[in-house]
Amino acid sequence: MHSSGGRTSLSAALAEVRAVYRDLAARPIERNCELRTQCCHFKLTGKTPYLTRGEALLAARAWKATGRKALPSRDDGACPMLDPQTSRCLIYEDRPFGCRTHFCAAAGGPYARREVIDLIRRLEQIDEQLGGDGPRALPAAISSIL
Ligand code: SF4
Repeated sequence: MHSSGGRTSLSAALAEVRAVYRDLAARPIERNCELRTQCCHFKLTGKTPYLTRGEALLAARAWKATGRKALPSRDDGACPMLDPQTSRCLIYEDRPFGCRTHFCAAAGGPYARREVIDLIRRLEQIDEQLGGDGPRALPAAISSIL
């Protein structure tokens, strides 16, 4: 990653987040996602994805690129970035790490931490370089940037 005067440039940091996502996709960990989107219903799963700062910046940028501004508030406990009409993720290409590693039981269950711990460490390192203070729950992590 490039840095000047001790500060990591934002574009280099976001490129590194994307590199982590690419490396994750290249892992031979088999899952069979049928796009049931259960995992995007936090109230149902009891789990909200936590985002490091680089992930949140990338997701917020993707959200803005859809022409939207603030995250909508939903009373059904689903992710604010899940399209209520189509039930599709509105930022799929830039969805956070947790969305790429948490699968429902029908799809084979979540990845084991040990399978991806090196990638988590890289995201934590980017978080630190960007002045983040560790992972935050998805709605708060993204709203604080928008
Ligand atoms: S960001 Fe996308 S994939 Fe992740 S929980 Fe929200 S809608 Fe689902």
